[in-house]
Amino acid sequence: MSGATDEPFELKRLVETRGAERYALAAKHGNPQLARTLHAIGFDKIYTAAAGPYLYDGDGHDYLDMLAGFGVFALGRHDPTVRQALHDVLDAGLADLTQFDAPPLAGLLAERLLAEAPHLDRVYFGNSGTEAVEAALKFARRATGRGRVLYCDHAFHGLTVGSLSVNGAKEFRSGFDPLLPDTAIPFGDLAALARELRRGDVAALIVEPIQGKGVAVAPAGYLPAAHDLLKQHKALLIVDEVQTGIGRTGDFFAYQHDGVEPDIVTAAKALSGGYVPVGATLAKDWIFRKVYSSMDRVLVHDSTFGSNAQAMAAGLATLHVLERDALVVNARIVGERLQRRLCEAAERYEMISDVRGRGLMIGIEFGRPESWRLRAPWFALQLARKGLFAQTVVHGLFQRHRILTQVSGDHLEVIKLIPPLTLTEAEADRFLAAFTDVMDEAQRGSGLLRDFTRTLATRSRHG
Ligand code: PLP
Repeated sequence: MSGATDEPFELKRLVETRGAERYALAAKHGNPQLARTLHAIGFDKIYTAAAGPYLYDGDGHDYLDMLAGFGVFALGRHDPTVRQALHDVLDAGLADLTQFDAPPLAGLLAERLLAEAPHLDRVYFGNSGTEAVEAALKFARRATGRGRVLYCDHAFHGLTVGSLSVNGAKEFRSGFDPLLPDTAIPFGDLAALARELRRGDVAALIVEPIQGKGVAVAPAGYLPAAHDLLKQHKALLIVDEVQTGIGRTGDFFAYQHDGVEPDIVTAAKALSGGYVPVGATLAKDWIFRKVYSSMDRVLVHDSTFGSNAQAMAAGLATLHVLERDALVVNARIVGERLQRRLCEAAERYEMISDVRGRGLMIGIEFGRPESWRLRAPWFALQLARKGLFAQTVVHGLFQRHRILTQVSGDHLEVIKLIPPLTLTEAEADRFLAAFTDVMDEAQRGSGLLRDFTRTLATRSRHG
Protein backbone atom coordinates (compact mmCIF):
# COMPACT_ATOMS: atom_id res chain seq x y z
CA MET A 1 0.00 0.00 0.00
CA SER A 2 1.35 3.42 -0.89
CA GLY A 3 -0.21 5.24 2.09
CA ALA A 4 -3.38 6.96 3.25
CA THR A 5 -5.73 8.48 0.70
CA ASP A 6 -8.62 10.90 1.01
CA GLU A 7 -10.01 9.90 -2.37
CA PRO A 8 -13.39 8.22 -2.12
CA PHE A 9 -13.62 4.72 -3.56
CA GLU A 10 -15.63 4.90 -6.79
CA LEU A 11 -15.81 1.65 -8.64
CA LYS A 12 -17.63 3.10 -11.64
CA ARG A 13 -14.94 5.71 -12.19
CA LEU A 14 -12.18 3.17 -11.75
CA VAL A 15 -13.67 0.99 -14.47
CA GLU A 16 -14.26 3.97 -16.75
CA THR A 17 -10.78 5.37 -16.37
CA ARG A 18 -8.74 2.19 -16.27
CA GLY A 19 -10.92 -0.54 -17.79
CA ALA A 20 -9.17 -0.23 -21.15
CA GLU A 21 -5.89 -1.27 -19.51
CA ARG A 22 -7.25 -4.77 -18.92
CA TYR A 23 -4.93 -6.61 -21.31
CA ALA A 24 -1.86 -4.66 -20.25
CA LEU A 25 -2.63 -5.37 -16.60
CA ALA A 26 -3.20 -9.07 -17.28
CA ALA A 27 0.05 -9.24 -19.25
CA LYS A 28 1.96 -7.56 -16.43
CA HIS A 29 0.38 -9.06 -13.34
CA GLY A 30 -1.56 -12.19 -14.30
CA ASN A 31 -1.32 -15.29 -16.46
CA PRO A 32 1.42 -14.23 -18.88
CA GLN A 33 -0.11 -16.13 -21.81
CA LEU A 34 -3.69 -14.88 -21.56
CA ALA A 35 -3.45 -11.48 -23.23
CA ARG A 36 -0.87 -12.82 -25.67
CA THR A 37 -3.11 -15.68 -26.82
CA LEU A 38 -6.24 -13.55 -27.13
CA HIS A 39 -4.30 -10.97 -29.10
CA ALA A 40 -2.80 -13.57 -31.42
CA ILE A 41 -6.19 -15.01 -32.37
CA GLY A 42 -7.87 -11.60 -32.60
CA PHE A 43 -10.21 -12.02 -29.62
CA ASP A 44 -8.82 -9.22 -27.47
CA LYS A 45 -11.90 -7.01 -27.58
CA ILE A 46 -12.82 -4.48 -24.96
CA TYR A 47 -16.37 -5.25 -23.96
CA THR A 48 -18.02 -2.45 -22.08
CA ALA A 49 -21.48 -3.83 -21.42
CA ALA A 50 -23.54 -7.02 -21.52
CA ALA A 51 -27.21 -7.94 -21.45
CA GLY A 52 -29.02 -11.24 -22.01
CA PRO A 53 -27.08 -13.27 -24.58
CA TYR A 54 -25.13 -10.21 -25.84
CA LEU A 55 -21.82 -8.55 -25.10
CA TYR A 56 -21.25 -5.00 -26.34
CA ASP A 57 -18.05 -3.23 -27.31
CA GLY A 58 -17.38 0.49 -26.92
CA ASP A 59 -18.85 1.22 -30.38
CA GLY A 60 -22.13 -0.39 -29.37
CA HIS A 61 -21.66 -3.50 -31.55
CA ASP A 62 -23.38 -6.56 -30.14
CA TYR A 63 -21.72 -9.98 -29.90
CA LEU A 64 -23.95 -13.02 -29.59
CA ASP A 65 -22.42 -15.06 -26.78
CA MET A 66 -22.82 -18.77 -27.49
CA LEU A 67 -20.27 -19.53 -24.76
CA ALA A 68 -22.04 -17.89 -21.81
CA GLY A 69 -18.92 -17.61 -19.66
CA PHE A 70 -18.25 -21.38 -20.07
CA GLY A 71 -21.89 -22.04 -19.28
CA VAL A 72 -22.51 -19.96 -16.19
CA PHE A 73 -24.97 -17.44 -17.67
CA ALA A 74 -27.94 -19.77 -17.93
CA LEU A 75 -30.30 -16.80 -17.62
CA GLY A 76 -28.22 -14.55 -19.85
CA ARG A 77 -26.35 -11.61 -18.33
CA HIS A 78 -27.84 -9.24 -15.82
CA ASP A 79 -31.04 -11.07 -15.15
CA PRO A 80 -33.15 -8.54 -13.17
CA THR A 81 -34.46 -11.07 -10.63
CA VAL A 82 -31.00 -12.32 -9.66
CA ARG A 83 -29.68 -8.76 -9.57
CA GLN A 84 -32.51 -7.71 -7.29
CA ALA A 85 -31.91 -10.70 -5.01
CA LEU A 86 -28.27 -9.70 -4.70
CA HIS A 87 -29.14 -6.10 -3.92
CA ASP A 88 -31.67 -7.35 -1.37
CA VAL A 89 -29.26 -9.72 0.33
CA LEU A 90 -26.66 -6.98 0.70
CA ASP A 91 -29.26 -4.48 1.90
CA ALA A 92 -30.64 -6.98 4.41
CA GLY A 93 -27.47 -6.64 6.49
CA LEU A 94 -27.53 -10.34 7.37
CA ALA A 95 -25.25 -11.87 9.98
CA ASP A 96 -23.64 -14.04 7.33
CA LEU A 97 -20.63 -16.35 7.69
CA THR A 98 -20.78 -16.32 11.46
CA GLN A 99 -19.49 -19.91 11.15
CA PHE A 100 -21.42 -20.68 14.32
CA ASP A 101 -24.94 -20.84 12.99
CA ALA A 102 -26.84 -22.62 10.24
CA PRO A 103 -27.16 -20.21 7.31
CA PRO A 104 -30.86 -20.00 6.41
CA LEU A 105 -30.46 -19.40 2.69
CA ALA A 106 -28.23 -22.48 2.37
CA GLY A 107 -30.95 -24.63 3.91
CA LEU A 108 -33.49 -23.20 1.50
CA LEU A 109 -31.29 -23.65 -1.55
CA ALA A 110 -30.50 -27.23 -0.51
CA GLU A 111 -34.23 -27.92 -0.14
CA ARG A 112 -34.90 -26.42 -3.58
CA LEU A 113 -32.07 -28.33 -5.28
CA LEU A 114 -33.04 -31.63 -3.68
CA ALA A 115 -36.58 -31.18 -5.01
CA GLU A 116 -34.97 -31.64 -8.44
CA ALA A 117 -33.09 -34.75 -7.29
CA PRO A 118 -35.56 -36.41 -4.89
CA HIS A 119 -33.53 -39.60 -4.48
CA LEU A 120 -30.76 -37.57 -2.80
CA ASP A 121 -30.91 -36.16 0.71
CA ARG A 122 -28.22 -33.62 1.52
CA VAL A 123 -26.12 -30.87 -0.07
CA TYR A 124 -22.63 -29.56 0.63
CA PHE A 125 -21.98 -26.06 -0.76
CA GLY A 126 -18.52 -24.94 -1.86
CA ASN A 127 -17.35 -22.21 -4.19
CA SER A 128 -16.69 -23.72 -7.61
CA GLY A 129 -17.08 -26.74 -9.82
CA THR A 130 -13.73 -28.18 -8.87
CA GLU A 131 -14.59 -27.84 -5.17
CA ALA A 132 -17.85 -29.69 -5.75
CA VAL A 133 -15.81 -32.48 -7.35
CA GLU A 134 -13.19 -32.49 -4.57
CA ALA A 135 -16.00 -32.97 -2.04
CA ALA A 136 -17.49 -35.78 -4.13
CA LEU A 137 -14.14 -37.60 -4.32
CA LYS A 138 -13.52 -37.28 -0.59
CA PHE A 139 -17.08 -38.32 0.26
CA ALA A 140 -16.79 -41.41 -1.95
CA ARG A 141 -13.48 -42.42 -0.37
CA ARG A 142 -14.75 -42.00 3.15
CA ALA A 143 -18.12 -43.66 2.48
CA THR A 144 -16.63 -46.76 0.88
CA GLY A 145 -13.36 -46.89 2.81
CA ARG A 146 -11.54 -47.31 -0.52
CA GLY A 147 -9.05 -45.06 -2.24
CA ARG A 148 -9.21 -45.49 -6.01
CA VAL A 149 -11.53 -43.51 -8.27
CA LEU A 150 -12.19 -44.42 -11.89
CA TYR A 151 -12.63 -41.68 -14.47
CA CYS A 152 -13.07 -41.57 -18.21
CA ASP A 153 -10.66 -40.73 -21.00
CA HIS A 154 -11.14 -37.08 -22.04
CA ALA A 155 -12.99 -36.30 -18.81
CA PHE A 156 -12.85 -32.79 -17.37
CA HIS A 157 -13.69 -32.34 -13.70
CA GLY A 158 -11.64 -29.28 -12.75
CA LEU A 159 -8.02 -28.38 -12.17
CA THR A 160 -7.26 -28.61 -8.44
CA VAL A 161 -5.14 -31.62 -7.53
CA GLY A 162 -7.95 -34.05 -6.69
CA SER A 163 -9.99 -33.08 -9.74
CA LEU A 164 -6.89 -33.07 -11.90
CA SER A 165 -6.20 -36.64 -10.80
CA VAL A 166 -9.46 -37.63 -12.51
CA ASN A 167 -8.89 -35.44 -15.56
CA GLY A 168 -8.62 -37.47 -18.74
CA ALA A 169 -6.52 -35.00 -20.73
CA LYS A 170 -2.73 -35.13 -20.85
CA GLU A 171 -2.39 -31.44 -21.61
CA PHE A 172 -3.84 -30.51 -18.23
CA ARG A 173 -2.05 -33.17 -16.18
CA SER A 174 1.39 -32.82 -17.62
CA GLY A 175 3.94 -31.23 -15.30
CA PHE A 176 1.86 -31.58 -12.14
CA ASP A 177 2.86 -35.10 -11.09
CA PRO A 178 2.53 -36.92 -8.83
CA LEU A 179 -1.27 -36.95 -8.89
CA LEU A 180 -3.54 -39.33 -6.99
CA PRO A 181 -3.46 -42.97 -8.10
CA ASP A 182 -6.80 -42.88 -9.91
CA THR A 183 -7.44 -44.82 -13.11
CA ALA A 184 -8.73 -43.83 -16.54
CA ILE A 185 -11.09 -46.07 -18.50
CA PRO A 186 -12.63 -45.46 -21.93
CA PHE A 187 -15.89 -43.48 -21.82
CA GLY A 188 -18.77 -45.89 -22.40
CA ASP A 189 -16.67 -49.06 -21.95
CA LEU A 190 -18.48 -51.34 -19.48
CA ALA A 191 -15.96 -54.19 -19.82
CA ALA A 192 -13.14 -51.88 -18.73
CA LEU A 193 -15.23 -50.72 -15.79
CA ALA A 194 -15.98 -54.32 -14.74
CA ARG A 195 -12.30 -55.25 -15.02
CA GLU A 196 -11.22 -52.41 -12.71
CA LEU A 197 -14.03 -53.09 -10.24
CA ARG A 198 -12.93 -56.72 -9.85
CA ARG A 199 -9.79 -55.48 -8.09
CA GLY A 200 -12.01 -54.56 -5.15
CA ASP A 201 -10.39 -51.21 -4.32
CA VAL A 202 -12.62 -48.84 -6.27
CA ALA A 203 -14.50 -46.16 -4.36
CA ALA A 204 -16.37 -44.66 -7.31
CA LEU A 205 -16.65 -43.91 -10.98
CA ILE A 206 -16.87 -40.19 -11.75
CA VAL A 207 -18.43 -39.38 -15.10
CA GLU A 208 -19.99 -36.52 -17.08
CA PRO A 209 -23.27 -37.50 -18.76
CA ILE A 210 -22.07 -35.43 -21.72
CA GLN A 211 -18.35 -34.77 -21.73
CA GLY A 212 -17.58 -31.08 -22.02
CA LYS A 213 -14.48 -31.88 -23.99
CA GLY A 214 -15.65 -32.80 -27.48
CA VAL A 215 -19.32 -32.89 -26.42
CA ALA A 216 -19.27 -36.69 -26.25
CA VAL A 217 -22.67 -38.01 -25.16
CA ALA A 218 -22.69 -41.10 -22.92
CA PRO A 219 -23.88 -44.06 -25.05
CA ALA A 220 -27.51 -45.01 -24.42
CA GLY A 221 -27.75 -47.34 -21.44
CA TYR A 222 -24.17 -46.74 -20.29
CA LEU A 223 -24.94 -44.88 -17.07
CA PRO A 224 -27.59 -47.34 -15.74
CA ALA A 225 -25.44 -50.36 -16.65
CA ALA A 226 -22.38 -48.74 -15.08
CA HIS A 227 -24.38 -48.01 -11.94
CA ASP A 228 -25.52 -51.66 -11.72
CA LEU A 229 -21.92 -52.83 -11.97
CA LEU A 230 -20.79 -50.31 -9.38
CA LYS A 231 -23.53 -51.42 -6.99
CA GLN A 232 -22.50 -55.06 -7.39
CA HIS A 233 -19.02 -54.05 -6.25
CA LYS A 234 -20.22 -51.68 -3.51
CA ALA A 235 -18.75 -48.69 -5.31
CA LEU A 236 -20.45 -45.36 -6.01
CA LEU A 237 -21.55 -43.49 -9.10
CA ILE A 238 -20.61 -39.80 -9.09
CA VAL A 239 -22.23 -37.87 -11.90
CA ASP A 240 -20.51 -34.56 -12.56
CA GLU A 241 -23.20 -32.11 -13.64
CA VAL A 242 -21.09 -28.98 -13.24
CA GLN A 243 -21.59 -28.18 -16.91
CA THR A 244 -24.63 -30.26 -17.87
CA GLY A 245 -26.72 -29.50 -14.77
CA ILE A 246 -29.33 -26.81 -14.02
CA GLY A 247 -31.25 -27.28 -17.24
CA ARG A 248 -28.53 -27.09 -19.87
CA THR A 249 -29.45 -30.34 -21.63
CA GLY A 250 -33.23 -29.95 -21.48
CA ASP A 251 -33.61 -31.85 -18.19
CA PHE A 252 -32.77 -30.26 -14.84
CA PHE A 253 -29.92 -32.78 -14.50
CA ALA A 254 -28.65 -34.61 -17.58
CA TYR A 255 -28.56 -37.97 -15.74
CA GLN A 256 -32.37 -37.82 -15.59
CA HIS A 257 -32.44 -38.44 -19.33
CA ASP A 258 -30.61 -41.72 -18.73
CA GLY A 259 -32.96 -42.95 -16.03
CA VAL A 260 -30.24 -43.41 -13.43
CA GLU A 261 -30.07 -42.35 -9.78
CA PRO A 262 -26.43 -41.50 -9.00
CA ASP A 263 -25.11 -41.70 -5.43
CA ILE A 264 -23.42 -38.31 -5.67
CA VAL A 265 -24.11 -35.40 -8.05
CA THR A 266 -22.07 -32.23 -8.49
CA ALA A 267 -23.37 -28.88 -9.73
CA ALA A 268 -21.91 -25.37 -10.05
CA LYS A 269 -21.58 -22.98 -13.00
CA ALA A 270 -25.20 -21.96 -13.80
CA LEU A 271 -26.42 -22.49 -10.24
CA SER A 272 -25.92 -18.85 -9.28
CA GLY A 273 -26.87 -17.49 -12.70
CA GLY A 274 -23.23 -16.60 -13.26
CA TYR A 275 -23.09 -13.97 -10.54
CA VAL A 276 -21.36 -15.50 -7.54
CA PRO A 277 -18.99 -18.47 -7.45
CA VAL A 278 -20.78 -21.53 -6.09
CA GLY A 279 -20.54 -25.30 -6.08
CA ALA A 280 -22.85 -27.99 -4.74
CA THR A 281 -22.33 -31.65 -3.96
CA LEU A 282 -25.57 -33.59 -3.55
CA ALA A 283 -25.51 -37.06 -2.01
CA LYS A 284 -27.44 -39.68 -0.13
CA ASP A 285 -27.91 -39.36 3.60
CA TRP A 286 -25.77 -42.40 4.46
CA ILE A 287 -22.81 -40.91 2.61
CA PHE A 288 -23.02 -37.65 4.57
CA ARG A 289 -23.38 -39.63 7.79
CA LYS A 290 -20.14 -41.51 7.04
CA VAL A 291 -18.28 -38.27 6.34
CA TYR A 292 -19.71 -36.27 9.24
CA SER A 293 -19.90 -39.29 11.53
CA SER A 294 -19.47 -37.59 14.91
CA MET A 295 -19.41 -34.15 16.49
CA ASP A 296 -15.61 -34.29 16.33
CA ARG A 297 -15.90 -34.46 12.58
CA VAL A 298 -18.38 -31.62 12.14
CA LEU A 299 -15.89 -29.55 10.09
CA VAL A 300 -14.07 -32.47 8.50
CA HIS A 301 -14.98 -31.19 5.06
CA ASP A 302 -15.76 -27.49 4.83
CA SER A 303 -14.83 -24.21 3.17
CA THR A 304 -14.90 -20.78 4.81
CA PHE A 305 -16.97 -19.11 2.09
CA GLY A 306 -19.21 -22.10 1.30
CA SER A 307 -22.93 -21.32 1.76
CA ASN A 308 -22.29 -17.55 1.77
CA ALA A 309 -25.48 -15.52 1.55
CA GLN A 310 -24.78 -13.92 -1.84
CA ALA A 311 -24.19 -17.25 -3.56
CA MET A 312 -27.21 -18.82 -1.90
CA ALA A 313 -29.46 -15.84 -2.73
CA ALA A 314 -28.29 -15.87 -6.35
CA GLY A 315 -28.93 -19.63 -6.45
CA LEU A 316 -32.45 -19.31 -5.10
CA ALA A 317 -33.26 -16.48 -7.51
CA THR A 318 -31.75 -18.39 -10.46
CA LEU A 319 -33.83 -21.50 -9.75
CA HIS A 320 -36.91 -19.30 -9.37
CA VAL A 321 -36.38 -17.73 -12.81
CA LEU A 322 -35.54 -21.09 -14.35
CA GLU A 323 -38.89 -22.44 -13.18
CA ARG A 324 -40.95 -19.28 -13.77
CA ASP A 325 -39.75 -18.90 -17.35
CA ALA A 326 -39.73 -22.66 -18.10
CA LEU A 327 -36.13 -22.35 -19.25
CA VAL A 328 -35.39 -26.06 -19.02
CA VAL A 329 -38.13 -26.67 -21.56
CA ASN A 330 -36.84 -23.75 -23.64
CA ALA A 331 -33.37 -25.31 -23.65
CA ARG A 332 -34.89 -28.56 -24.89
CA ILE A 333 -37.07 -27.01 -27.61
CA VAL A 334 -34.68 -24.37 -28.94
CA GLY A 335 -31.76 -26.79 -28.59
CA GLU A 336 -33.49 -29.60 -30.48
CA ARG A 337 -34.47 -27.24 -33.28
CA LEU A 338 -30.97 -25.78 -33.50
CA GLN A 339 -29.44 -29.23 -33.55
CA ARG A 340 -31.91 -30.36 -36.24
CA ARG A 341 -31.08 -27.36 -38.41
CA LEU A 342 -27.37 -27.97 -37.92
CA CYS A 343 -27.82 -31.60 -38.96
CA GLU A 344 -29.60 -30.42 -42.12
CA ALA A 345 -26.75 -27.99 -42.79
CA ALA A 346 -24.23 -30.77 -42.23
CA GLU A 347 -25.62 -32.51 -45.33
CA ARG A 348 -24.40 -29.59 -47.43
CA TYR A 349 -20.89 -29.30 -46.02
CA GLU A 350 -18.30 -31.99 -46.54
CA MET A 351 -16.25 -30.85 -43.58
CA ILE A 352 -18.96 -31.44 -40.98
CA SER A 353 -18.67 -35.01 -39.78
CA ASP A 354 -21.10 -34.93 -36.83
CA VAL A 355 -23.56 -32.78 -34.92
CA ARG A 356 -24.41 -34.02 -31.43
CA GLY A 357 -25.42 -33.04 -27.93
CA ARG A 358 -28.60 -32.47 -26.04
CA GLY A 359 -30.63 -29.36 -25.31
CA LEU A 360 -28.40 -26.30 -25.44
CA MET A 361 -25.14 -28.21 -25.28
CA ILE A 362 -24.24 -28.90 -28.87
CA GLY A 363 -21.03 -30.01 -30.55
CA ILE A 364 -20.23 -29.65 -34.24
CA GLU A 365 -17.39 -31.90 -35.34
CA PHE A 366 -15.35 -31.39 -38.48
CA GLY A 367 -13.60 -34.11 -40.41
CA ARG A 368 -11.69 -34.82 -43.58
CA PRO A 369 -13.61 -33.65 -46.67
CA GLU A 370 -14.33 -36.07 -49.51
CA SER A 371 -13.37 -33.92 -52.46
CA TRP A 372 -9.73 -33.55 -53.41
CA ARG A 373 -10.14 -29.80 -53.88
CA LEU A 374 -10.87 -29.34 -50.17
CA ARG A 375 -8.51 -31.96 -48.90
CA ALA A 376 -5.33 -29.97 -49.56
CA PRO A 377 -6.19 -27.05 -47.24
CA TRP A 378 -7.65 -29.49 -44.70
CA PHE A 379 -4.44 -31.53 -44.54
CA ALA A 380 -2.32 -28.37 -44.47
CA LEU A 381 -4.18 -27.33 -41.32
CA GLN A 382 -4.01 -30.80 -39.77
CA LEU A 383 -0.29 -30.84 -40.35
CA ALA A 384 0.13 -27.49 -38.60
CA ARG A 385 -2.06 -28.47 -35.65
CA LYS A 386 -5.11 -30.63 -35.09
CA GLY A 387 -8.03 -28.40 -34.13
CA LEU A 388 -7.01 -25.52 -36.39
CA PHE A 389 -9.93 -25.96 -38.78
CA ALA A 390 -12.39 -25.62 -35.90
CA GLN A 391 -10.41 -22.58 -34.78
CA THR A 392 -10.79 -20.98 -38.22
CA VAL A 393 -14.57 -21.47 -37.96
CA VAL A 394 -14.63 -19.94 -34.46
CA HIS A 395 -12.52 -17.08 -35.81
CA GLY A 396 -14.83 -16.57 -38.82
CA LEU A 397 -17.92 -16.56 -36.61
CA PHE A 398 -16.35 -13.96 -34.37
CA GLN A 399 -14.66 -11.65 -36.86
CA ARG A 400 -17.32 -11.74 -39.55
CA HIS A 401 -20.47 -12.15 -37.50
CA ARG A 402 -19.66 -11.14 -33.93
CA ILE A 403 -20.58 -14.52 -32.50
CA LEU A 404 -18.57 -15.99 -29.65
CA THR A 405 -18.00 -19.76 -29.63
CA GLN A 406 -15.12 -22.01 -28.60
CA VAL A 407 -13.14 -24.99 -29.81
CA SER A 408 -14.12 -27.71 -27.41
CA GLY A 409 -10.70 -28.80 -26.17
CA ASP A 410 -7.11 -28.94 -27.27
CA HIS A 411 -6.44 -30.71 -30.57
CA LEU A 412 -10.13 -31.27 -31.24
CA GLU A 413 -11.95 -30.42 -34.42
CA VAL A 414 -15.15 -29.72 -32.48
CA ILE A 415 -16.83 -26.45 -31.68
CA LYS A 416 -19.12 -26.27 -28.72
CA LEU A 417 -22.27 -24.21 -28.22
CA ILE A 418 -23.41 -23.58 -24.65
CA PRO A 419 -25.48 -20.39 -24.93
CA PRO A 420 -27.81 -19.03 -22.25
CA LEU A 421 -30.89 -21.21 -21.72
CA THR A 422 -32.96 -18.14 -22.60
CA LEU A 423 -31.84 -18.42 -26.24
CA THR A 424 -34.71 -17.57 -28.58
CA GLU A 425 -35.34 -19.10 -31.99
CA ALA A 426 -34.40 -15.75 -33.56
CA GLU A 427 -31.04 -15.79 -31.77
CA ALA A 428 -30.49 -19.40 -32.78
CA ASP A 429 -31.31 -18.36 -36.36
CA ARG A 430 -28.71 -15.60 -36.21
CA PHE A 431 -26.16 -18.25 -35.26
CA LEU A 432 -27.35 -20.57 -38.04
CA ALA A 433 -27.14 -17.86 -40.70
CA ALA A 434 -23.63 -16.91 -39.59
CA PHE A 435 -22.50 -20.52 -39.38
CA THR A 436 -23.87 -21.24 -42.85
CA ASP A 437 -22.03 -18.22 -44.23
CA VAL A 438 -18.76 -19.31 -42.62
CA MET A 439 -19.16 -22.87 -43.87
CA ASP A 440 -20.03 -21.63 -47.38
CA GLU A 441 -16.77 -19.75 -47.34
CA ALA A 442 -14.89 -22.82 -46.12
CA GLN A 443 -16.50 -24.92 -48.82
CA ARG A 444 -15.61 -22.38 -51.52
CA GLY A 445 -11.92 -22.33 -50.77
CA SER A 446 -9.41 -20.87 -48.43
CA GLY A 447 -10.74 -17.37 -47.57
CA LEU A 448 -11.39 -18.36 -43.98
CA LEU A 449 -8.05 -19.99 -43.57
CA ARG A 450 -6.36 -16.98 -45.15
CA ASP A 451 -8.08 -14.59 -42.73
CA PHE A 452 -7.17 -16.68 -39.71
CA THR A 453 -3.55 -17.28 -40.67
CA ARG A 454 -3.15 -13.60 -41.49
CA THR A 455 -4.48 -12.69 -38.02
CA LEU A 456 -2.17 -15.22 -36.39
CA ALA A 457 0.86 -14.17 -38.40
CA THR A 458 0.53 -10.41 -37.96
CA ARG A 459 -0.67 -10.48 -34.38
CA SER A 460 1.81 -13.07 -33.05
CA ARG A 461 4.57 -10.92 -34.45
CA HIS A 462 3.29 -7.84 -32.70
CA GLY A 463 2.15 -9.68 -29.58
N1 PLP B 1 -16.64 -30.43 -13.83
C1 PLP B 1 -17.05 -30.18 -15.10
C2 PLP B 1 -17.89 -31.19 -15.81
C3 PLP B 1 -16.71 -28.98 -15.73
O1 PLP B 1 -17.12 -28.74 -16.97
C4 PLP B 1 -15.92 -28.04 -15.01
C5 PLP B 1 -15.53 -26.77 -15.62
O2 PLP B 1 -15.64 -26.55 -16.80
C6 PLP B 1 -15.52 -28.35 -13.70
C7 PLP B 1 -15.90 -29.55 -13.15
C8 PLP B 1 -14.70 -27.38 -12.92
O3 PLP B 1 -15.45 -26.27 -12.59
P1 PLP B 1 -14.74 -24.91 -12.11
O4 PLP B 1 -14.10 -24.33 -13.32
O5 PLP B 1 -15.85 -24.08 -11.56
O6 PLP B 1 -13.75 -25.29 -11.07
